[in-house]
Amino acid sequence: MIPYGKQEITQQDIDAVVDVLKSDFLTQGPQVPLFEQSIKFAVDAEHALAVNSATSALHIACLALGVGKGDVVWTTPITFVASANCALYCEADIDFVDIDPSTYNLSAENLKKKLQHAKENNLSLPKVVIPVHLCGQPCEMDKIHALGQEYGFAIIEDASHAIGGKYKGNPIGNCEYSDITVFSFHPVKIVTTAEGGVATTNSKELAAKLDLLRSHGITRDSSLMVNDSHGGWYYEQVDLGFNYRMTEMQAALGVSQMSRLHDFVAKRNALAARYDELLKGLPLITPYQIEDSYSGRHLYVIRLKINEITITHKECFEQLREKGIGVNLHYIPVHTQPYYKGLGLVFSQLDEAESYYKDAISIPLFHAMTEAQQDEVIKVIKEVLV
Ligand SMILES: *Cc1c(COP(=O)(O)O)cnc(C)c1O
Repeated sequence: MIPYGKQEITQQDIDAVVDVLKSDFLTQGPQVPLFEQSIKFAVDAEHALAVNSATSALHIACLALGVGKGDVVWTTPITFVASANCALYCEADIDFVDIDPSTYNLSAENLKKKLQHAKENNLSLPKVVIPVHLCGQPCEMDKIHALGQEYGFAIIEDASHAIGGKYKGNPIGNCEYSDITVFSFHPVKIVTTAEGGVATTNSKELAAKLDLLRSHGITRDSSLMVNDSHGGWYYEQVDLGFNYRMTEMQAALGVSQMSRLHDFVAKRNALAARYDELLKGLPLITPYQIEDSYSGRHLYVIRLKINEITITHKECFEQLREKGIGVNLHYIPVHTQPYYKGLGLVFSQLDEAESYYKDAISIPLFHAMTEAQQDEVIKVIKEVLV
């Protein structure tokens, strides 16, 4: 089976992890700051805080921005559940903004309409909006940011798919249009630390809050303490935090992987361009890219032209799997999940998201994929569709 995504681990990666195992620190040592440094450098942000997953990063990002009971967070329905769960962890409510039919990202236009509608009808405005750069393609952050200024919401970019990408010439994660950006380093993502996440920000205050929240709300920094130090052993718990720390082994793997970020993303883009070319003329839509952007190309999603083929979406998916192509579907619209239906919230019409779910398929794309593997994927798609 050719998988839809797969990590690439080199001897250099293995050596980096083994070196940590032989060192004095398995956690809270020098590797995490080095990994954070590599992210800051790559994405041009002032602060980078590593944690044990993007899910944890999203959780503490919401808390750092003051999300709590009575607040509402808006995100896209076409995302992994974690982008929405983070609001529920903070006891806030969640709502969804429908996607753009060409990019499949949270639509800035629909966001504007939904904000206007909420304002006119005295409904809750969002405290935080979480745009997700689906497949690595950036959302229209300039427009979303302008709406944030107008309606007073904060922005967390869920860039779990997007490290190494660019928006209007700047690296995704530099937070030019957001308060905090979150990255994931799960093995299917572009760069991996096995499990891991990072939050970037340009705000010193937010960075300090994120730092506290990832480690029990405990500080050893006297400027953050309430009392005078009792002695060399002294620390204070000044907030209710968690243990969301990344280990040294994970961070060392991350540092080693980050040295190949540019190569990973360039290779993904070359493979994506090859798919664009070789899938032409088939009854499917290849990914549209907005102007002035460079996608990290985490995923390659095709949309079947159901009216032009004789099999169903499900049949196509299953035949591809049977023939050894490890396709997947990103994602089941979050608002249709039983847990979300059970919340008793009323979500807006999400027609574009629901129609996306009826014809989208993620086909294999990963850094180490060979052209021969890619040719096999294309050959099988042709067999199944025509
Ligand atoms: C993978 C992913 C997450 C969660 O990442 P973890 O590191 O596995 O917690 C969140 N949002 C999106 C869009 C993702 O793809």
